[in-house]
Amino acid sequence: MAMVLIRCPVIDLPVSTGLFMDEPTFESTDLHDEDRRLSCHLCQQVHVWRKEEAYLVEDEEAPLPAHE
Ligand SMILES: [Zn+2]
Repeated sequence: MAMVLIRCPVIDLPVSTGLFMDEPTFESTDLHDEDRRLSCHLCQQVHVWRKEEAYLVEDEEAPLPAHE
């Protein structure tokens, strides 16, 4: 299982979308608008991302979630 990340456009760092799926699932799935709306923990803004911007990272390679 992989974590779906995008790049925060404000801070320019990878941020988790909170979605977990493997690559075939990600490629074939239709993401709903609410799935693509992310309250970014890095910059505290809401990003609406497109599937083309997102990428998958295997769990063990994923950055640790930031602690507030
Ligand atoms: Zn952000």
